[in-house]
Order: sequence, then C-alpha cells, then structure tokens
Amino acid sequence: MSGRTEGGAKDRYRLHSAACSSSSISPSPTAHESAYSVPMPIRQLSETMINQIAAGEVIERPASVVKELVENALDAGASRVEIVTAGGGLNLVRVTDDGSGIPEKELALAIARHCTSKLAEDIHDIRSLGFRGEALPSIGSVARLSIRSRTASGDSAAEIGIEGGRVSAVKPAAANRGTTVEVRDLFFATPARLKFMKGERAESSATSDVVKRIAIAFPSVRFTLAGSDRSTLELPATDDSAEGHLRRVAQVMGADFPDNAIAIDAMRDGVHLAGHVSIPSFSRANALQQYAYVNGRPVRDKLIAGAIRGAFADVLPRDRHAVTVLFLTLDPAIVDVNVHPAKADVRFRDPGLVRGLIVGAIREALANAGIRAATTGAAGMMAAFRPGAASYAHPGPANGHRSYEAASRASGFAGFDRSPQRPLDMGFDGVGNGGFRENDQAAFDAGPLHSADARAGHNEASETLLGTALGAARAQVHENYIVAQTRDSLVIVDQHAAHERLVYEALKNALHSRAVPSQMLLLPEIVDLPEEDAERLAFHSETLARFGLGIERFGPGAVAVRETPSMLGETNVQQLVRDLADEIADNDTVETLKGRLDRIAATMACHGSVRSGRLLKADEMNALLRQMEATPGSGTCNHGRPTYIELKLADIERLFGRR
Ligand code: ADP
Ligand code: MG
Repeated sequence: MSGRTEGGAKDRYRLHSAACSSSSISPSPTAHESAYSVPMPIRQLSETMINQIAAGEVIERPASVVKELVENALDAGASRVEIVTAGGGLNLVRVTDDGSGIPEKELALAIARHCTSKLAEDIHDIRSLGFRGEALPSIGSVARLSIRSRTASGDSAAEIGIEGGRVSAVKPAAANRGTTVEVRDLFFATPARLKFMKGERAESSATSDVVKRIAIAFPSVRFTLAGSDRSTLELPATDDSAEGHLRRVAQVMGADFPDNAIAIDAMRDGVHLAGHVSIPSFSRANALQQYAYVNGRPVRDKLIAGAIRGAFADVLPRDRHAVTVLFLTLDPAIVDVNVHPAKADVRFRDPGLVRGLIVGAIREALANAGIRAATTGAAGMMAAFRPGAASYAHPGPANGHRSYEAASRASGFAGFDRSPQRPLDMGFDGVGNGGFRENDQAAFDAGPLHSADARAGHNEASETLLGTALGAARAQVHENYIVAQTRDSLVIVDQHAAHERLVYEALKNALHSRAVPSQMLLLPEIVDLPEEDAERLAFHSETLARFGLGIERFGPGAVAVRETPSMLGETNVQQLVRDLADEIADNDTVETLKGRLDRIAATMACHGSVRSGRLLKADEMNALLRQMEATPGSGTCNHGRPTYIELKLADIERLFGRR
C-alpha cells in the first residue's frame, strides 16, 4: 500500500466505518442486561477519538513526539536535524530537517491515519524507522500540530495545521527545502494525560536521551537540540566509517569513552554484533549509558540488557553498569520489531543465539583486552595517569604476554605457575601456600633499599623486566602499594585488589575446567515442577552434572536430585532447582548455578587474598606483577575498580615542567 496514492487507506477506513454502523449486527438489548443497565447500540468511534486512543500508546510524553518527528526527518533522508523545545517539550517541540519534503498535495494525507509512504510489500522487511502512519495523526489529535514543507521540485512551500483533531486547509508558506514540524501545547486536548508529566527537567532529559540514542545510529547527520528549557546539545556530522561512528559515540558519551572502550566485532549464524563496551573500571551507577540497535533501529530490550549484565557479571558488582554501544545486524525475517507501537521492543526468533553471541563476544573482548585500568578522567595530576593498556597497546597483548613469559623464565620465579590448568597451585596464601608469607617482615626490603635493585637493573633479568607491561617492582609503600618501573612509566599496583582478582580467576578456572565436587544426598530429594520445566532440566542434566548437581526425571512433573555441589553446603534444593528451571526457560542456559558458584568463588577469593598491610619481598612483588600480566581481566578488581594505575615518564616530566 502506498499512502501517497490519493485516498487508499482513507477509503478503506470509510468502508470499514459503514460496515460497522450497520444496525443489523447490533446485539439484542437483552444480551448484555447483566453488564449494562442501559443498553447501548454499537457505534463507530469518531476519527479523532481513534487517534487519541492511538496517541495514548504512541505519544507518552514530549520525548515520544521528538522521537517520532526525528525518525520522520531521518526517513526523509535529512542530513541536518534541528530540534527546539520549550517547557520540557510540553509547550513546544519543533523539528526542522533538510530532507525530501512532503509534496503539497500529500500534506493532508500525512496527517491521516494509517497513511504512510514507507511500508514495504512485506511487514517483515521494514527498513525505515516509521511504518505505521500513526504518529502525525496521533500528535494532531492531542496537540496543535503544524507542518510546513517544501520538496526539491516544489516552487514554494505549503503548510497544514491540525488542532485536537481539527484539520485546517493547506496554505502556501515560505520555507527552504525540507520540513518543519511544530507541536504546541501537547495534551491540551487530553488533560488527563498532562497530569502524568514529570516536570520540565525530567521531560527535557528524556528528550535528550531519545536524541542521543538516535544520533548514535546516524553519525553522518548533524543534530542540534536547543531551547530555553535546556543547555544546547550539538552533534556535528561525522561519517559512516567505523572511526566516524566512534567519534559520534564520543560526542554523546564523552571524549574519554574511546580511551576506555574495547571494540566488539563478532558473527554467529548470520547475526553480526559490532560496537564498543567500556572496560570494567569505567562503569556507571545505572544502565542509562547502554545503547543498543537492531538493524540500525534504537531498541531497549530486556534480552540485550540481560546479556550485557551476564557478560560483565564477573568483573562488575551488581550495582555497577558498563557503558555500551552495540549494533546487531540480522536478517529482518528473524527479528520482529513490530511488537509495540513505541517500537522500542524487539523479539528475536532465536533469543539464545543472540544472548550467546553478546555474552560470548563481550567476554572474549574483555579477556583479550587483558589487564587494563581506566583513565581517571580527573583534572590536574591524576589526568596524567594513563590506562595500563597505553604502554601495552604497542606490542599488543600477545607480545606483552610473550615478553612476560621470557622474563619469568629468565628470572626463574618459583612457585608461580601461570598455566590456567593448574590455577590452584599458584601459591598464594589461602589457596595454596608459599609465595606470600605472613609476618615475614625480616625478609622484606623496601624503600631506599631498593636502590640496590635499581642498580641490579643493569643485569639481564631486570632489564627484561623493564620491558614487561607492569615492569620491575621497586618498592612497597603504605604497606599496600607496589611501585614498579617500566622503560617509560611508573606503575602503582593496589596489591590487595590485584591479588583478590587473581585468586578469584584461579578458583573460577578450577570450577569451570573440571567437574565440581558433589555430595550425595542421603535420600534423593523430589522436586515437583510443571512438566515443561522437568523436561528442560532433564535435557540439561549432563551440564548440571558438571556443576555437581545430579538430577534425573522422576515420573511426570517431577525430578529427583541425588547430588548437590559440595561448595554450596546445606542448600535449599527445591529453590535451587526451581531457579534453575526458570533460568533455563528464560535463557536456555544454566547461568544460575554457574553464577552461584562464581559468587562463592568471589567470596572465597576475598577471604583468601593478601590483605593490605602485608609486607612483600621484591620477588614476591614481581611475581604478583607477572601473574597479573598473565591473567585476563586482572586490570580491575572483583568490584570493578582498577588494580593498578600507570603514569608515563613523559607526563611525570611534564608535571615537573621539564617538557
Ligand atoms: P510513518 O512515519 O509511520 O509513515 P507518520 O505519521 O510519522 O507515519 O508520517 C506520515 C507520513 O508523512 C510519512 O510516511 C511521510 O511520507 C510523511 N512525513 C512525515 N514527516 C516527514 C518529514 N519530516 N519529511 C518528509 N516526509 C514526512
Ligand atoms: Mg513516522
């Protein structure tokens, strides 16, 4: 259907209306006696009422008006979009674009219900942002709307207005090519709606969020958002290259994002995932800075949000959130973007695939990024501290590891085996023994005494150490901070945070690389469940067994649990099994058990790690640094804080005015 061919949808609407008002299909008055005291005949709603009902769904608040108008501008191929608001958008929203414009004879259709120039032949192949032909008539039914537009071929512009559903005649107007849509007095025609508005500040910030969200997907379009009710947001056009995308993201997220982000690029079964995620130490207190797009359309989707949380579960505490920009590209036939009129929800045909792709790609990227701490972003001296990766980036993580290996062998550190297959043998207190000895102060030499070490820096082993990512340990200060030196920087390590992380990674490796020890229950515990849940659990019984949970079918609608993971101790088996069933139903994975075990590992790691205040010998400090280099994710502690910071020699020289 093409709304631009005169009449189309409108005629059908009238046809529909005539059929509905036919008295022959009215029910007999007695049919509803119990429900209605006064029987009413069925009548067709007025067009304005229909539009107002639609507006109730599509136009929730000023930000929804902005979203619809900006999407229209982008669908019209605009390269510049200017947005002005007043009174939080309730008094005024004006969007001006330089797009294709609307021909004068189509202005009336643009504000008629179900009239669109965009719908493809197939509802499953939607490539524009709009497609319902609902936004303009909905807005026009609850506000005062005017559209002024001029096409490339048009000699002059034309204008149409609609106020609370009443349409005015098309008039000539003066304008450049493109379209200006002005919405005044939003919800004046539906005062009940007005009561739900949260106040100017909240509405303004919801609008900013909408504009940023869309702008990230259209880097080659220039956006401005201004008005008496806000500070101006200006996003100059970049371009559609990967680099241009990142520059647009930086305009929205802040200039320090690219320095603290890891690129994601992964493909699985025809689904492509690209974008950036922050390193863990660059986290936020809420998830507002998580942007997701499906085939270029901004979405807010529970599945995607959950997958991001899952991917970061190991490196961030529950109340911290990564900053993410993720673009999913997939065949439009296997994703439904048509779920809700506000179009923020999507439904994937294969949710497990999408979740697995996101979790897998982010985890891999985090692991490959290796140790890396955040830039502080603070002013003054702290601004000179660089992420660990800065020195690391040049040889690349792989080289960094290799040079570590060489160094480690050359200097022959004992008791530290970096093999992931033997994580429990690494010799830290509380896990194995050796390495860090408590109360071994006599053996400790630090501070100025290390000048000896510094001189020894001329020997071969120490020379190699300077070339590693975290360098050669020189001193321990305040009984918790290891000061190390690389060829071109000074590194400060928080030994407690670093060690806690290392122990956690080691424990987790042990858990996931071999079967977890289990304990037999004296009597098997029978858990009654809906049949589908019992079925699902039985299907995953082999995986569950790897985690130490022995489970089998026990007739229809029940399972028997014979073994539980020893680490869980006395556990509520019924609750565990039900949570697992829910988890599997939701995600088709067994995250719950894995998550529980990981949390136990984290708790044990905290108890087992070197407390601050422990004095360390030089070789112990160096061993800790080497272990950090070899352990993915060790740049942040279990709570998402950096485990070390790095100050470049050049920056130190600048601080002293030598440069
Ligand atoms: P939809 O976007 O779903 O088609 P709308 O009610 O938002 O529905 O818009 C109706 C029609 O008006 C669009 O299909 C388009 O043809 C036209 N239109 C709206 N805004 C613009 C604009 N800024 N530039 C060009 N055409 C526009
Ligand atoms: Mg639209």
